[in-house]
Formats: sequence, C-alpha cells, structure tokens
Amino acid sequence: LLLLDGIRKSFNVGARTETEVLHGIDLAVRRGEFSALMGPSGSGKSTLLNIIGLLDRPSSGGLFINGQSTAALSEQELTKLRGHAIGFVFQYHHLISAFTARENVMMPMLVDRGRPSFDMERRADELLEWVGLSRWQDSYVTNISGGQQQRVAIARALAMNPPLILADEPTGNLDTGTANDVFDLMQRFNRNHGTTFLIVTHNHDLASRCSRLIELVDGRVTRDEDRTAKNAPQ
Ligand code: ATP
Ligand code: MG
Repeated sequence: LLLLDGIRKSFNVGARTETEVLHGIDLAVRRGEFSALMGPSGSGKSTLLNIIGLLDRPSSGGLFINGQSTAALSEQELTKLRGHAIGFVFQYHHLISAFTARENVMMPMLVDRGRPSFDMERRADELLEWVGLSRWQDSYVTNISGGQQQRVAIARALAMNPPLILADEPTGNLDTGTANDVFDLMQRFNRNHGTTFLIVTHNHDLASRCSRLIELVDGRVTRDEDRTAKNAPQ
C-alpha cells in the first residue's frame, strides 16, 4: 500500500540555515496493518505522517502509494489522491464547531461531490451509528465530550472509505478509559474492513495492541517490530 524510499525532510530555520529532520526513512506498509509509530517528542513522527498523508512533500526520496510514485503529481492530483486514499485523525480533532456531528462526517463527501445528498446523509448516519453516536448525530460538536468528538473525527476519516487512516496522537488528550474505547473502535474497523492504520502514540499500552511497532528516534527508524504473533488470540 505504502512504500517510502529514503525519505528526507529539511526545514528552513532562519534565513540561511536548514536542519534535516528526517534522515532517510525506508518503510513498507502492507494493506491491513495496524501499526503504532512511537518515539520521543521532536523525533519527526508528525513530519513523517504529514509526508505520507500528502500534506507535505519530502525534500528527497520516494513515496509510493499503491505502487504509484507521488513525486510528479500536481497539487490538484495530490488533493484528489488524498481525498480518496487517506483519512486523517488528529489529536485535536479539527472538527468544524459550527456543524453538527452528521455535517462534520459529511464534509469529505461534500468536498468530493461524488454522491447525492440523501446518500451522504445515510452514509454519515451509518458511520455515526457504528461509532456509537446515533443519538448525537444532530448535536453540534461543541456540545459533546472530547471522546465523542474524537469518535466523530474517526467517522469522518472513514467517510470516503479510504484504504489508509493516519492518526496523529488520536487519544492524546483523552483519559485512559476513553482512549481505550477510541482505540478499540479503530482496531475493530481494521479487523472488520481491513483498513490500514498508522497511529502515532506515546501510550505503550495502546502500542502493544498494534500489529506492528515502529520507533523513530532523531529522524531515523530505530525499531520495527512485527507483533502479530504476540497479539494472536490465545
Ligand atoms: P511530538 O511527539 O512532540 O509531536 P514529533 O515526533 O511529531 O514530536 P515533529 O513535529 O515531526 O516531531 O518535529 C520534528 C522536528 O522538526 C522538530 O525539531 C520540529 O521543531 C521540526 N519541525 C517540524 N515542523 C517544522 C516546520 N514547519 N518548520 C521548521 N521545523 C519544523
Ligand atoms: Mg507530533
């Protein structure tokens, strides 16, 4: 699904100085993986996720999605690919506060304009039911709890049925119980639909439930562990 070949990223700091944040990341992600991306603050996790999510371009190196190189794609083509191939969940959900839960989930479909509105509403309600929020579909997202907001964000990420979900500390500001529930939800979707997840987390308990653990330190992969055997049902 994903292939990263020597991804490097530098940022300008000040007028003349550049610092390299990612020092050549090689990574292959297969369909159906449920992976945790860990590492200390500042190690480059979000930078890497933004590159994979086509929100930012690498300074050098290749990013292939479904075998297709993304290097030569125009902004417009990137936006289109992003819309269909990738769903995002962030630590701060980035929901639109003036919208209801249903309207937020409909957003990606409205942008895509690929289906009639009754169909978008049905899909949004289906997803909200799936994340356990049927009762809240007409509530403004400012009137629901943090955990519920994060579940709306997950439903929104799934709206276009993308093969890949990128989550940057999706449970970062939730209490342990709620974080567990939100994590369960993603894992259940992974199992039922085969959707691939790449989740940045600082939480070792949650990471230990992933099928793969990737660790980034100072812009390099320092650990890459297949945990499927350990997580197999007893
Ligand atoms: P955290 O766990 O705190 O979220 P992270 O692993 O996600 O950390 P990044 O946000 O990827 O870390 O940042 C990696 C490094 O790149 C940091 O040193 C940061 O200051 C730098 N950096 C990130 N974005 C930019 C930018 N737009 N301009 C300049 N430097 C940046
Ligand atoms: Mg980060």
